[in-house]
Amino acid sequence: MIKHLSILGATGSIGTSALDIVRMHPDRFQVKALTAANNLPLLCRQIKEFSPEMVAVLDEAKARQLAEMTGSGAGIHILFGPDGYNAAAAWNGVDTVVLAMVGAAGLAPALSAIDAGKDIALANKETLVMAGDIVMARAREKNVAVLPVDSEHSAMFQCMLGNQTKDVTQLFLTASGGPFRNTPGTDFADITREDALNHPNWSMGDKITIDSATLMNKGLELIEAVHLFGMPPETIQVLIHPESIVHSMVGFADGSVMAQMGVPDMKQAISFALSYPDRLNLGLAFPDFEQIRSLTFHAPDTRRFPSLEFARKACESGGTMPAVMNAANEVAVQAFLDRRIRFSDIFTLIATTMGAHTCIDNPDLSGIIEADQWARKTAGSLIK
Ligand code: NAD
Ligand code: MG
Repeated sequence: MIKHLSILGATGSIGTSALDIVRMHPDRFQVKALTAANNLPLLCRQIKEFSPEMVAVLDEAKARQLAEMTGSGAGIHILFGPDGYNAAAAWNGVDTVVLAMVGAAGLAPALSAIDAGKDIALANKETLVMAGDIVMARAREKNVAVLPVDSEHSAMFQCMLGNQTKDVTQLFLTASGGPFRNTPGTDFADITREDALNHPNWSMGDKITIDSATLMNKGLELIEAVHLFGMPPETIQVLIHPESIVHSMVGFADGSVMAQMGVPDMKQAISFALSYPDRLNLGLAFPDFEQIRSLTFHAPDTRRFPSLEFARKACESGGTMPAVMNAANEVAVQAFLDRRIRFSDIFTLIATTMGAHTCIDNPDLSGIIEADQWARKTAGSLIK
């Protein structure tokens, strides 16, 4: 049976990989909706190739520009802004929404998709960090599946298959360690945008590449795992694994540990979220174990990389604190990408913003959005 997809963030790293999978398996997938922020030339090519019924872009000006580019006779619905993204997530006839836009902008469409009863292939971890309790509760209520696209969480999900949830006692969340794994902390202030965008193992969008360099990506993933698998943060151990072959592991009551391995290519995790329980032929080679010879693991250095401590603190405080951490991080990463702050300032900005926040317990959606806005203003005011 053909699965109908809506791909939010279609022009990004995850979005284009998802479309690669559709291209490889046209007998299994059909694209109904695509969204992007502003890469109109690429979106245009995607429209020509995949013929979606609708697309959504960032604003009205871009929607008008896109209409001109595609030609008015194309018969495609072109929407824009938050309403457009929500419409793409809830589009009639869509079975699964690939949530691959970046940052807090993913939260509203995630809820729209769930409310419309669509399954979600979730790449946008920021959604669960901000509002994991609300999102997961609503998904359960609407009986929709939230399938992980993040490679670590896909790995854990794959390791759990065929086992009972009650027997899972530990999660091992692996991290490459990023480009500054061996850089002395005293050099962090001098790290440039170019250094930080040069990830050793994975090719990804700019925001997550910086998050990987600060290890905040692992902090966000820790909170993501708490929500996806209902595991308390103290049962989740982060391990630096520079080879990026073991994508994560699950420990069971009897001391057994299951690991999921593969070459570092996001197509594996994306396709499993789309075709579960089937596995598709993606033309990926197995890791060359004879060449690799050894797989290594060690503890992260939280003195140089305090992001993991921030995430654990955010879990401990609960309530609005994870949303505040996420928003402060988004502001700090953007400022670093704009060359307005140093690499080491990212940590200071997040710590200061979290320290200034009066946490609100059990917030509703508007409480979370208010905290997100407050954190953006507070973090922004710390940047000269
Ligand atoms: P990217 O920057 O390559 O692409 C982002 C996509 O979202 C683009 O299509 C862009 O046009 C769109 N977008 C950006 N800002 C937007 C906004 N404000 N409103 C609407 N659309 C917007 O990012 P990516 O690397 O593909 O990552 C996407 C998400 O997936 C992130 O949440 C990231 O953490 C997560 N993720 C990515 C990877 C990876 O390998 N790239 C792995 C795991 C998880
Ligand atoms: Mg990941």
